[in-house]
Amino acid sequence: PKEESPNSDDKNELRSPICCIMGHVDTGKTKLLDYIRGTNVQEGEACGITQQIGVTYFPAENIRERTRELKADAKLNVPGLLVIDTPGHESFTNLRSRGSGLCEIAILVVDIMHGLEPQTIESLNLLKMRNTDFIVALNKVDRLYGWKTCRNAPIAKAMKQQSKQVQMLFNDRLIQIITQFKEQGLNTELYYKNKDRGDTFNIVPTSAISGEGIPDILLLLVQWTQKTMIERLTFSKEVECTVLEVKVIEGHGTTIDVVLVNGVLHEGDQIVVCGLQGPIVTTIRSLLTPHPMKELRVKGTYLHHKEIKAAQGIKIIAQGLEHAIAGTSLYVVGPDDDLEDVKNKTMEDMKSVMSRIDKS
Ligand code: GDP
Repeated sequence: PKEESPNSDDKNELRSPICCIMGHVDTGKTKLLDYIRGTNVQEGEACGITQQIGVTYFPAENIRERTRELKADAKLNVPGLLVIDTPGHESFTNLRSRGSGLCEIAILVVDIMHGLEPQTIESLNLLKMRNTDFIVALNKVDRLYGWKTCRNAPIAKAMKQQSKQVQMLFNDRLIQIITQFKEQGLNTELYYKNKDRGDTFNIVPTSAISGEGIPDILLLLVQWTQKTMIERLTFSKEVECTVLEVKVIEGHGTTIDVVLVNGVLHEGDQIVVCGLQGPIVTTIRSLLTPHPMKELRVKGTYLHHKEIKAAQGIKIIAQGLEHAIAGTSLYVVGPDDDLEDVKNKTMEDMKSVMSRIDKS
C-alpha cells in the first residue's frame, strides 16, 4: 500500500475546478490565456505557476494576489484553477464528449466589435448540450474608440475612467450582444449587475492587451465554481483521469499527457490505458510537470513528482505507451482491484472512442 497525501482523507477538501476556453477564431482565446499567464512571469515562480501540457495551473494564492483590488476579503476554498487551453484540439472532441465531462466551467470568448459569430453559436450549442456552465469574456474592450487604458484594473473601475462617449459605445455593444444571446435562448448580463445568477449567464468585459477585467474573470471563475459546484469539486481518492495527448519526447520515448480530474497518482502506480491493440497495462515511471514559465522553453526539462493530487495536468512516462489513444480514460489498479476488471472497463471506453473514429 502506498502512502496517502497528508490531507487526502479530509472529507471537505476541494480540488481545483477545471476550465476551458471556447469561442470563434480571432476573438482572443490565445491572447487572453497568454495575458493571464504572461503577467505572472515575474512573480510567477514565487507563486508557483506552472504551464502544464496545454493545461495551466493557477494556485489560489496567485489568484488572491491578482484580485486583491477587486475584493480584499475574497475567500478561496479551492487550491487553485486549472485551465485547459487546447480547445481546438482533435482529441478534445472525444475528451469533451465523455459522459463525466471534464470541465466544470467554460470561458466563452466574444469579440465586442463582432458580437456572436458562427463558432460562438457552435460553442454555445455544445455547452447547452453538455449542460456546462460558462462565463462570457466580452473581449477587446480596448478597441472601443477612445478607450483609456487602465492596466489590469477591475472592469467596473476601468469603466468609470472612460468618457461618456466610450461608456455609451460600450453600452450599445453590450445591449446588442445581450440581444444576440437572447436570440439563442440565453439570458446574459454584465456580471456586476447580474442579480439572477441562477438563470442568467455572466458577462465580463476584458482586454487581453491591457488586462482590464482580468482580475474579475479570475475571481468569478473561482468563486462561482466553489459556490455552485461543491459536491462536484469535493476531492475524492477515486482516480478520474483522461488522456489528453500521446507524444514522443526525446529521451523519454512515448509519453502521455493527462488531466487528473480527481484522486492522486503516484510514481510506481500500476495503470491501464486504452491502446490500439487492446488495454495497455504498465507502471508509472515518472510523473512530470514542466518547470515554471521561465524554463518552459528549455527543451526536455521537467519537474519530477513522487505523487500528484488532482486537479492537475501531468506528463506520464511509462513503458509501452506507443499505441495509447487520446481521449480515453486512464485507470489505476488499486490493491483491491482485479486487473481483468480494470482492463474490461478500459475496453468499454475504447469501443466508444473507436466507433467515433470509424465514423469520421
Ligand atoms: P484566437 O483565434 O481566439 O486564439 O485569437 P487570438 O488570441 O489569436 O487573437 C486574434 C487577434 O486579436 C490577435 O491579433 C490578437 O493580438 C488580437 N487580440 C486578442 N485579444 C485582444 C484584445 O483584447 N484587444 C485587442 N485590441 N486585440 C486583441
